[in-house]
Amino acid sequence: MSNPTRSRQIVIAGGGIAGLTAALAFAQRGFPVQLFERAANPQEAGAGLQLSPNATRILQRLGVLDLLRPVAVAPEAVVLRNASTLGEVARVPLGEAAAARWGAPYLVLHRADLYGALAARVAQDPAITMTTGAALRDAAFHPMGLTASIDVDSRVREVSGLLLVAADGVWSSLRRLVDGAPESRFSGRVAWRTTLRADDPAIAPLGAALGRDVVTTFLHPRAHLVAYPVRAGAAINLVAITGGVSPGEGWSTRLDPAPLHAAFGDAAAPLARLVRDAGTWTSWPLHAIDPGAPWSDKAGVVLVGDAAHAMTPFAAQGAAAAIEDAYVLAAVLDDAPNDLAGALARYEKIRRPRVRRVVRRAAFNAFAWHASGPVAAVRNAILARRSGERLAADLDWLYGWDADAALRATP
Ligand SMILES: Cc1cc2nc3c(=O)[nH]c(=O)nc-3n(C[C@H](O)[C@H](O)[C@H](O)COP(=O)(O)OP(=O)(O)OC[C@H]3O[C@@H](n4cnc5c(N)ncnc54)[C@H](O)[C@@H]3O)c2cc1C
Repeated sequence: MSNPTRSRQIVIAGGGIAGLTAALAFAQRGFPVQLFERAANPQEAGAGLQLSPNATRILQRLGVLDLLRPVAVAPEAVVLRNASTLGEVARVPLGEAAAARWGAPYLVLHRADLYGALAARVAQDPAITMTTGAALRDAAFHPMGLTASIDVDSRVREVSGLLLVAADGVWSSLRRLVDGAPESRFSGRVAWRTTLRADDPAIAPLGAALGRDVVTTFLHPRAHLVAYPVRAGAAINLVAITGGVSPGEGWSTRLDPAPLHAAFGDAAAPLARLVRDAGTWTSWPLHAIDPGAPWSDKAGVVLVGDAAHAMTPFAAQGAAAAIEDAYVLAAVLDDAPNDLAGALARYEKIRRPRVRRVVRRAAFNAFAWHASGPVAAVRNAILARRSGERLAADLDWLYGWDADAALRATP
């Protein structure tokens, strides 16, 4: 190959959390990056996000964490409460205990603030060129690399590179470039989200049951609701999960909230009222992809984030997994830039068991949090016997995960 720079170029489709993090991770390792985002004015819609230490540790290494600190909140604890009685079921200490235990902070923040921090770092990095309003349509693979075609301003542009990173989300159209990669499937559940000002009168009746410096999860048969502060504490993010039918593709679909109101109609009165009076809920159909499906093709395409393994949010780990993917992918290619097939095989070897375990944990949380009757009673009895320290220790494998250690352990 005559042009050594071109031979290392990474082409990324999608400028969400996965794509932006991948751009930073590759640039940090000296790869030039061309990033294409379909939206003309991209911004993270949705609402809040929990970012656990396994993700913030990586964001620190990529120079993003310091930009998050002024806008994020480091909650003191995760508290599980019974939605019918508002009584506390369990408490996992976070705050300084999390940073000490897992070596990085546990943060909650608005998605737009994470997007803003990642995009600001991308804009500062001369190795990354980001083009918005640019949809990557297709790619052709040849012995010298790949040529991707991109629709920009109603024209088709071609870009060459060594590797195509498909970070195009749960409804990925580029997944078709990986042999055997399946469509995502609707999980039968719908997420409902809204954000309130911290002084909204709908919150006050919950009193101490909705602490301002904690993540509170209200457990109810077949539904749950999570509340936590965002925007440096100025707002409260609410996300509820219920059963439902798919409202279609998108982050911000407006559905009739009747099923949500019904799901919490028999919760404690202040919580039922909050759900009714919280204003406009947007809905999000929860789709998932079998984590055993292939993620890469040795010709030169690899899936990251939701495009690879969208998962239900019961473990609050989808974005964290996207961040882990991005960091590991850049590292394996840096370790073996002349062995693309070997690097991609190592990426899957490191990431697949981890993602499978996270997906299993999310399924377990779904079972436990939406339990009813005797199963809920047993759950509550078990949790009541566990100390906060013991509950935190159960999460060491998840939040203590260190990408660099995983890379060292899997040559
Ligand atoms: C209700 C809910 C709560 C959640 N809570 C948490 C949480 O607390 N913690 C956590 O870690 N995770 C959470 N998640 C998961 C997290 O939101 C996702 O895993 C994460 O946003 C996935 O990021 P992504 O970059 O892979 O995909 P996306 O954010 O979907 O980004 C894909 C991007 O690709 C672009 N694109 C699509 N096609 C093309 C193309 N052909 N060319 C160019 N660009 C293209 C899109 O415009 C988009 O910008 C939650 C999810 C839900 C639904």
